[in-house]
Amino acid sequence: MSFADFGIRSFVSQTHVDAFATHLAEGRVMCTRCSDCGKLAFPPRSGCPECGSEIFGWEPIEDAGRLLTHTTVAYGPSGFENEVPYTLAVVEFPAGIRVFGQLAPEVAASGPTIGMALRVEPRALPGNRVSYHFVRA
Ligand SMILES: [Zn+2]
Repeated sequence: MSFADFGIRSFVSQTHVDAFATHLAEGRVMCTRCSDCGKLAFPPRSGCPECGSEIFGWEPIEDAGRLLTHTTVAYGPSGFENEVPYTLAVVEFPAGIRVFGQLAPEVAASGPTIGMALRVEPRALPGNRVSYHFVRA
């Protein structure tokens, strides 16, 4: 499993955070934590946006977050034509990170509300690909 296996369409085949896709395949959605200053990052980053350090570790995103905003996509970009309609969301987690991604279809269909509790979990895609989505906490 490599980053080339992440998402419906991957534009990056190699990265310093390649293990992200492996973690998803193993059942965990992970963020990175800078080993020098402790700053969390999602999407995972090998270079700290706070202090510039390139030493980092992985941490699972396990707690429930709160839905900040969402929008439903009716016309999908290239690669996402078969996904529409789908709902994109930003969820803020207690650790202070915000995660952008899709709501699980059952959450989107039930009428998501701002502030609702959501968890992020791995999602299996066709062709042995992996991604993540938000489900009710
Ligand atoms: Zn740092």
